Amino acid sequence: MQPGFLVIISAPSGGGKSTICRKLRRRDASLLYSVSTTTRAPRPSEIDGKHYHFVSEREFHRRQRRGAFLEWAKVHDNYYGTSKAFIDRETKTGGVVLMDIDVQGAATIRRRRKDAVTIFLIPPSMHSLRERLRLRKDTDTIETRMANARAELKQAKHYDYWVLNDSLNTAVKQVEAIILAERHRAGRQAPKGLRVPAKTAVRP
Ligand code: 5GP
Repeated sequence: MQPGFLVIISAPSGGGKSTICRKLRRRDASLLYSVSTTTRAPRPSEIDGKHYHFVSEREFHRRQRRGAFLEWAKVHDNYYGTSKAFIDRETKTGGVVLMDIDVQGAATIRRRRKDAVTIFLIPPSMHSLRERLRLRKDTDTIETRMANARAELKQAKHYDYWVLNDSLNTAVKQVEAIILAERHRAGRQAPKGLRVPAKTAVRP
């Protein structure tokens, strides 16, 4: 069994990450999604276990001390963490796992996992970002999130790919094309009947 890999999708808040992840999974049911653990309160439409595992701060820190997170970060005054057990289990058995995480988490994973592909969604403008946050009714945190967005955009240079999220459908197709190309990266899979020397069977 070929091991799978991680697809990290980052963008400033309101940058469309969760919509893109949802659409990608509708088009390709084999894609998995890493459900993070957070101390943030659920939004009205969010379901525990599907969008996030919602926990108290005390519980989050208990899990963090136990080593349950592959990475964790404080974002906009709340804690977020990625389950190590889920990622290890799924990538060992060939899973391609989408992760909607922030720039701090992406930096940690880049250091810890050589199989991570990182994609940064670029918003068409700061104005459109503010508008999306306003529509999402995140009004109490819009200013914090806008300030963080400016800092996060500066980290885009560390990512493998940039996708402009101007038209949602185009952005989804572009991320899909990246995942397809990464599935065929030399060393990730050997075509049937081809004996690939071990030395070349790693990601450069
Ligand atoms: P939101 O509260 O809008 O759902 O997410 C806020 C930010 O936290 C987003 O940038 C999102 O990508 C990030 N985030 C969600 N889950 C995780 C996680 O497990 N780890 C890290 N580092 N960031 C996360």
